Amino acid sequence: MTREFSGLSAVVTGGGSGIGLAAARLLADRGASVACLDLDPAGVPADLLGLRCDVTDAVSVTEAVATAADRLGGLDILVNNAGTGAQGTIEANPDDEWHRVLDVNVLGVVRVSRAALPHLRASSAAAIVNTCSIVATTGLPNRALYSATKGAVQALTLAMAADHVDEGIRVNCVNPGTVDTPWVRRLLDSADDPAGELAALRARQPIRRLVSAAEVAAAIAYLASPLAAATTGTVLAVDGGMHGLRLPPAGPGPGRRDG
Ligand code: NAD
Repeated sequence: MTREFSGLSAVVTGGGSGIGLAAARLLADRGASVACLDLDPAGVPADLLGLRCDVTDAVSVTEAVATAADRLGGLDILVNNAGTGAQGTIEANPDDEWHRVLDVNVLGVVRVSRAALPHLRASSAAAIVNTCSIVATTGLPNRALYSATKGAVQALTLAMAADHVDEGIRVNCVNPGTVDTPWVRRLLDSADDPAGELAALRARQPIRRLVSAAEVAAAIAYLASPLAAATTGTVLAVDGGMHGLRLPPAGPGPGRRDG
């Protein structure tokens, strides 16, 4: 039986961990040939192509994308997922840190997309999916710098979708809520009260749990799929209802299904 992504090749940045690794795994399981570009590709399974790449380094990006396209026989799908975090208000981080995080989260998307576009133009099923975030649409405290980068990624997604629609290249993004990945586990480990912090993160999302990496991967695969050929310039929330819903606080009470 022909699988959804049979004959297609995909590059996933940040594919060595968390959401990127889950997306790469899912695309491969559905028939794609997949390269994972990551600062640390050690966690990439043997049946996927792991390539060391730093999205802040133009030479590294150009070489890794060329190697991926060469080894996979072209490039149809790009998942711009590599990212880094930052905490605090606008007073918390010096200019250098703003430049560093913008360089990874925004210019990283620009560099990898630029390198991939010539290959995508040769594809009849070209798609770019950017991993954005709930913070692009919802103000969360102590995430000023990170939010600014993801707001830029969402705007860039829409601008790129407009620029490349006539070339047959679709561009969409996913906006995850808080996802249970090594990134969030690291944040929890550094908290004064990890169990309390985890409970607060769960309570913040209307589904009262963290989103799984597999759930975000499924949304990425949908947007990347030839079956979604009419979908471009779309922002798909995978946030447990965080952006769209307004519920009473957790616990027994009117309006709660457990109340
Ligand atoms: P993760 O730390 O598990 O994975 C991120 C991967 O990106 C790592 O393998 C890391 O090595 C790689 N990476 C970082 N900087 C890089 C660089 N300069 N060049 C190449 N690779 C680099 O984190 P995750 O939670 O899976 O996050 C993936 C994406 O999802 C990020 O863009 C993040 O902003 C976004 N996101 C995460 C959450 C969440 O709650 N975990 C929520 C919303 C959005």
